[in-house]
Amino acid sequence: MTLLTNILEYNQQFVEEQSYEEYRTTKFPDKRLVILTCMDTRLVELLPKSMNMKNGDVKVVKNAGAIVSHPFGSIMRSLLVAVYELQADEVIVIGHHDCGMSAINSDSILDKMKERGITEETLDTVNYSGIDLHDWLKGFSSVQESVAHSVDMIKNHPLMDKKIPVHGLVISPETGKLDLVVEGY
Ligand SMILES: [Zn+2]
Repeated sequence: MTLLTNILEYNQQFVEEQSYEEYRTTKFPDKRLVILTCMDTRLVELLPKSMNMKNGDVKVVKNAGAIVSHPFGSIMRSLLVAVYELQADEVIVIGHHDCGMSAINSDSILDKMKERGITEETLDTVNYSGIDLHDWLKGFSSVQESVAHSVDMIKNHPLMDKKIPVHGLVISPETGKLDLVVEGY
């Protein structure tokens, strides 16, 4: 049985048994908060539980590293939508220790792409289109600095409401302990 079949079978039962009842809520965050954090597997449940967040409390935007890398990319757009359309009145960026993006090496990723059949020609085409793949695939060396930088990008974004506090935290993926990096009030 494939993973997908497995998921779909479980899902059928989940819906039939009305297991969704306990998760019912609205699209508006009860705690009026939007969080940008990392896609790390260890944070899937640990992060909301360690912050006393349940379904309905918060909007969560995730990517690799909790990084805002482009002022007009989809992450920034999601945060703006959360603020202007979905009643989020505060933003928190939460990076974490031992993040995959802190050790990322663009050469290694590009090598793995080639091993899986992406041709040199394709990489050249991308490069000639003005995209610096090494720069695009780079990570960060300090999670605190990365969080502070993302907080800065959000706070100073020309379209962000200046009254919205933007905070920065770092979480331990082992214990869930939060350390303050930037207090936005
Ligand atoms: Zn991470």
